Amino acid sequence: MNDKKSGSSSIKSVETVLTHYGRVPEDQFGFVNTPVYRGSTVLFKTLADIEAQQQRFLYGRAGNPTTEGVEAIITELEGAYRTRLVPSGLAAITIALMSCVTSGDDVLITDSAYEPTRAFGDGFLARMGVTARYYDPGIGAGLADLMRSNTKAVLAESPGSLTFEVQDLPALAKVTHAGGAKLVVDNSWASPLYLRPLELGADIVVHAGTKMFVGHSDAFAGTISTTEQSWKEVERIRRELGFFTSGDDAFLVARGLRTLAIRMKEHQGRALEIAMWLEAQDEVVQVLHPALPSHPDHALWKRDFSGSGSLFAVLLRPAPRASVAAFVDHLELFSMGYSWGGYESLCLPVKLDKNRTAKPWTAEGNLFRLHIGLEGVDDLKADLAAAIARYAAAR
Ligand SMILES: *Cc1c(COP(=O)(O)O)cnc(C)c1O
Repeated sequence: MNDKKSGSSSIKSVETVLTHYGRVPEDQFGFVNTPVYRGSTVLFKTLADIEAQQQRFLYGRAGNPTTEGVEAIITELEGAYRTRLVPSGLAAITIALMSCVTSGDDVLITDSAYEPTRAFGDGFLARMGVTARYYDPGIGAGLADLMRSNTKAVLAESPGSLTFEVQDLPALAKVTHAGGAKLVVDNSWASPLYLRPLELGADIVVHAGTKMFVGHSDAFAGTISTTEQSWKEVERIRRELGFFTSGDDAFLVARGLRTLAIRMKEHQGRALEIAMWLEAQDEVVQVLHPALPSHPDHALWKRDFSGSGSLFAVLLRPAPRASVAAFVDHLELFSMGYSWGGYESLCLPVKLDKNRTAKPWTAEGNLFRLHIGLEGVDDLKADLAAAIARYAAAR
């Protein structure tokens, strides 16, 4: 494998894994980084070689040294059996779910899930004869009441990336396994630095590598890490569907990962500082950040997580659309757009009317999701303070 695992059992810290795993300079003429491997065809020398299929690489679609390097890092961080790099976070979710089900099966998806996950359940899975049902993210052991004999997968996203409910993963894992199903966890928010779902009972962990791993808003990637038991089916689905990640994209993921620990620390500190500051501002009804003691799931967060991410939401007092426009249209540092995880701050007005079915969103007011980037914290506060003033004035 393209990593430094062998003989390095004393290496424990995530910072060391991030800086030293997934690259072998001796294999690259001494260059520090594994370069971009571009290639479809891999050559065989003899008939015996092609018959034996024993070469480390057989065909580019199954991976190359650049993609393997990324997989080695994430495997180590998640404490997984193996990891696959795939073209996007959404692909990671869809492959993971498909690996659990066949026609006639049933999946349970948290009501707080990333919206395209819901679209996949209601669209593709439904067309393939798989039912997708939604559950209250706070259900915990109560999930047992929803399990059916054909339920094969439970998808959790903790915290939910729009509304930030923290889920009781050990309780969900227990119920899921009792029903003979698999627990799939979207761990994009915390990264494996602050939450390790496999240790809490999950079978499959997925990441939108596009976000914190890449860290610069310039590439797409997803990862799927599994226990030994769940690996074969995940890899089978990936192979059969032909998902492949290019060496170019993999290189950008690897490059981002090298600084993930310090970036997470910076994002965490800034996000928390701004979240606490927002709690004291006029117009703010609630700040939805799991690391704040005021968060309804704070105790769960504290039990299972060792840190928090860059992303949270703020609920402002009810006001018409003109106020929302006044808030977002004249921001100077925060930009409006999908995704998150880059060095630049983002602000997204959140509409929840269509993507809540198990536990309708009833909070009154306007919700904004913030990704706190690496700008000066005081500059970001000033930008938000001006936006809040505009919001109030436009009411
Ligand atoms: C963005 C995101 C995804 C999807 O990732 P893409 O790379 O954009 O496909 C999945 N889960 C969460 C929580 C996300 O924020």
